[in-house]
Amino acid sequence: MISYPKVVLKKDKEHSIKRFHPWVFSGAVARVDEGLEEGDLVSVYSNEDDFLALGHIAIGSIVVRILSFEPVEINKEFWVERLKSACDVRREIGLLGIENNNVCRLVHGEGDILPGLIVDYYAGTAVIQAHSVGMYLHRGDIAEALQEVLGDDLIAVYDKSEGTLPFKSGIEPTNEYLLGETKDFTAIENGLKFKVDWLEGQKTGFFIDQRENRSLLERYSKGRSVLNMFCYTGGFSFYAMRGGANLVHSVDSSARAIEVTNENVELNFPGDKRHEAFATDAFKFLDDSDQKYDLIVLDPPAFAKHKKVLANALKGYKRLNLKGFQAIKKGGIMFTFSCSQAVSKEEFRKAVFIAAANAGRRVRILHQLNQPADHPVNIFHPEGDYLKGLVLYVE
Ligand code: SAH
Repeated sequence: MISYPKVVLKKDKEHSIKRFHPWVFSGAVARVDEGLEEGDLVSVYSNEDDFLALGHIAIGSIVVRILSFEPVEINKEFWVERLKSACDVRREIGLLGIENNNVCRLVHGEGDILPGLIVDYYAGTAVIQAHSVGMYLHRGDIAEALQEVLGDDLIAVYDKSEGTLPFKSGIEPTNEYLLGETKDFTAIENGLKFKVDWLEGQKTGFFIDQRENRSLLERYSKGRSVLNMFCYTGGFSFYAMRGGANLVHSVDSSARAIEVTNENVELNFPGDKRHEAFATDAFKFLDDSDQKYDLIVLDPPAFAKHKKVLANALKGYKRLNLKGFQAIKKGGIMFTFSCSQAVSKEEFRKAVFIAAANAGRRVRILHQLNQPADHPVNIFHPEGDYLKGLVLYVE
């Protein structure tokens, strides 16, 4: 058995690991072997010297992100086995290897027992983002393993870890292709075409996590006027158009995102006059316009990246949703979301409830939404549950 340097826990601090929680917090650690560097592989032992798990060490409150609860060797076979398991799940749930969809999240960190790693798949290109130095150091192995697992379904692997590694690590990666190179940036989600820009765009290039919610919106779009706030590259807008909306306004503060939104609409509905896009601040747009809509989407960026700014974030959600309620017609439908992991489902719902009360609107909750199956939540790591949404019928 290969032995990695040791992290030894304090007495009675092994319980959460025994329940397969994938993180070791600094407060639980009694001692760490000398000479370790951020990202090194370590074995975690109880105070009684029992092996518990192994993973990557990091500086900060999370000291170890666990890769395995068995004393295995972290070698090529390990990566192939883990990535194969993640890809198999996507095939089984009908997201990979099918005709009208070639976009999905292949690896969702803790949800796929690969803490610190995100892999999104766009029409043959796997875009990887390492959120820990440990994962970053393994990027070459991960790219090779993806090639082995995906075979002909893989054209290129692009590493987009610039900006996702912890600031304190001192590592400054450059985004680059690790394997192959992409020529065509067009992907297909549920039969709709769109351009994904992982080179310049936000996150890995697209917000795959809203796929099912976009499909639901399509069902409610017929004959409605739709306002898609925080549209990014227009995801919800082209579903609304396919669903038969009679007007779609897309709003985002990023001029580049609006440019791509227009390209995406053109890819699917060339020359269609129902759509118009606005590169402006969402709050300003709502303040400056007195137009009312039948269907509004509010999908802002995370207002709270951590608990310390929670109160401000909740204020932000109240303010935004109040403006949404003020802009919606009687009998309108609102899709409202929060992707802040630090904001709970209950807190978000309460913020929307206060906004509805302040707007004086009667509201029924039609659907309570969350993240899709390719963004799985590890049952032992409830922190992974981040996306929440409400579909409201507004009188
Ligand atoms: N709904 C999108 C994803 C939204 S991500 C989809 O389905 O793909 C959040 C978006 O909000 C980003 O595109 C970002 O540019 C935009 N944004 C951030 N702050 C904004 C603001 N104040 N006004 C308008 N857009 C904003």
